[in-house]
Amino acid sequence: MNRVYNFNAGPSPLPLEVLEEIRDEMTNFKGTGMGIIEMSHRSKEFQSVIEETKSLLFDLMKLTPDHEIVFIQGGGTMQFLMESYNFLHTRAAYADTGVWAHKARDSAAFFGEAYDANSAKDRNYSYIPEDCLIKPETDYLHITTNNTIYGTEYWKFPEVDIPIICDMSSDILSRRIDFNRFDMIWAGIQKNLGAAGMALVILKKDFAKTARTDIPPFLQYKTFIEKDSAYNTPPVFCIYTLNKMLHWIIKQGGLDIIEKRNKEKAKLIYDIIDKSNGFYKGHAVKKDRSRMNITFNLSSADEEKDFIEKAKENRFIGVNGHRLVGGCRISLYNAVTIDACKAVAQFMEAYRKDHQ
Ligand code: PMP
Repeated sequence: MNRVYNFNAGPSPLPLEVLEEIRDEMTNFKGTGMGIIEMSHRSKEFQSVIEETKSLLFDLMKLTPDHEIVFIQGGGTMQFLMESYNFLHTRAAYADTGVWAHKARDSAAFFGEAYDANSAKDRNYSYIPEDCLIKPETDYLHITTNNTIYGTEYWKFPEVDIPIICDMSSDILSRRIDFNRFDMIWAGIQKNLGAAGMALVILKKDFAKTARTDIPPFLQYKTFIEKDSAYNTPPVFCIYTLNKMLHWIIKQGGLDIIEKRNKEKAKLIYDIIDKSNGFYKGHAVKKDRSRMNITFNLSSADEEKDFIEKAKENRFIGVNGHRLVGGCRISLYNAVTIDACKAVAQFMEAYRKDHQ
């Protein structure tokens, strides 16, 4: 099999066994004589995929029954729009941890006041700002739990007395946290949990009830809740891949095992950076380092270009930084294996010895 070492930031690798299972079921899902993308979304077979997917999420995340789960087309960017359209009545606060926070805030500005509760701009988003300044009558605080572009991740969540909405697109189900402490969590699933094009959205029932109802039905969470994510034809393939990924996580031993593995994977690469005598310069401050996206620079843009090219020659794909910031980035989502991390760590070490 000719698979590369894939460190793409999203879409990203899925486990080979999951891809093979999808392949095997593609023409005949559970004896129906048709594939999942060919059958009615109202069929009992597909309805049971939806129900099972929600139930697996409740179990894996240890969610209390006061939550709703819905699946919505349009990825993360649609959620920037929907969260503010539904929940911004007066003003909303944004933890400014970089580009994705800006996109969320700029969408919200169409519906009311959207302001930064803090900012890490002063040091090019290399850290997670701790304090939040919340104005009176703020409807919610939006945080990006993992900052895909800069490689920072929240290890301690803000303590505020207003609802928190989390964009967990790039670290959902990569670690065990208390998911019940947030009023809303959403994530584009294309990094840790499946195929691109959909967001998984988890809302507290009471919070959902505070949403505006004077907006178009298709943009109301209420509609997705009442119609069990099938107001119109849902993104069937995305939901199906999410279902497969949840089964895979359970098969690995659940979130605690996934977290342990992710910790080990990230350490293999951060160790190479830290022991390189400044050859590799990590972007994020140590205490806020992400386990999902490891960002670093070499001494010049030319050297980075050479590093990325040599990596590609050695079948390490996707190690370039985001187009807005440059540099290098190695993304280590759930499906990236420990062996892939050992291989790229070895490559980095050999490259340093050749060039330092
Ligand atoms: N939030 C975060 C943290 C992301 O990393 C991304 C995409 N990389 C988005 C939101 C936007 O998601 P999408 O491309 O699915 O709209």
